[in-house]
Amino acid sequence: MQPIITDTIRIERLVESEGPLYPLQVLLPDLDESVADEHRAWLIPRFFHPETRLLVMSLHTFVIRTPQHIILVDTCVGNNKHRPDFGDWHHQRTPYVENLNALGITLGDVDFVFCTHLHVDHIGWNTRLADGRWVPTFPNATYLFSRQEWEHWHAYATDTSHPDDPYPPPVRQVLRDSYQDSVLPVVEAGQSQLITDGHPIEKGIWVEAAPGHTPGNAILRIERGSLHVVLSGDVIHHPLQVVYPEVSSAFCFDPEQSRQTRQKFVEHYADSNALILPAHFATPTAGRIVSNNGGFRFVFRS
Ligand SMILES: [Zn+2]
Repeated sequence: MQPIITDTIRIERLVESEGPLYPLQVLLPDLDESVADEHRAWLIPRFFHPETRLLVMSLHTFVIRTPQHIILVDTCVGNNKHRPDFGDWHHQRTPYVENLNALGITLGDVDFVFCTHLHVDHIGWNTRLADGRWVPTFPNATYLFSRQEWEHWHAYATDTSHPDDPYPPPVRQVLRDSYQDSVLPVVEAGQSQLITDGHPIEKGIWVEAAPGHTPGNAILRIERGSLHVVLSGDVIHHPLQVVYPEVSSAFCFDPEQSRQTRQKFVEHYADSNALILPAHFATPTAGRIVSNNGGFRFVFRS
């Protein structure tokens, strides 16, 4: 993603990993495998890997700099995390901190960390291992969590009887483990702030509720002069869902509510000047939603 730069804001994408990740039917079980062939002209090779037939996805943090603050949005999987059922994520080592430093930012420079939701791939760098303990990675940052989201996952991690739990057992375990090693240490260090719908980080930058993917799922809105940016988190996982906004992911806690939120989102931003920055779209990541033959498609910003 080319940096988004104006006089008063700079937005960059810090990639932790990018590549073929999930079979289409694993991430989007309500879509028929044949849609990958139907849309191959634009899907291959950037968004669908033809040999493995896996969806190409990215895990990244958005780095926002204003004259007042440095804000990180979503913190990926992290290093050294124990994720035995999750392949490359298990005890992963990536040069994430070095790459942040290469942007001219030290760990101590970060003012705010905002997690759109508290899933394992959005909270990892909240903490790092120091002398065998998980400590906040960004010592001077306030970590912003949706109150509803935090209350949900706190209960989930501490009470293991969830009769309505939609997740298979390995996913349940990783959701609990990641809360314990990547959220709880931040709360215990006194660096968390629980926020609600509309919370302003600074003038023209605010949080909006977008429930469904998780109970307290949220997005970040930015309006600076003519610049209008929406950091949409996991409201939409893959550009195919702009074409099929009715299709929720297998990881949505409430697929019906997620569908409603996504359909409203796509209709609301279609043909507007809003630049959409989703949490998992592969390079070039940013783009606009446009109407297309009675439906919608995503037009990437070059
Ligand atoms: Zn995610």
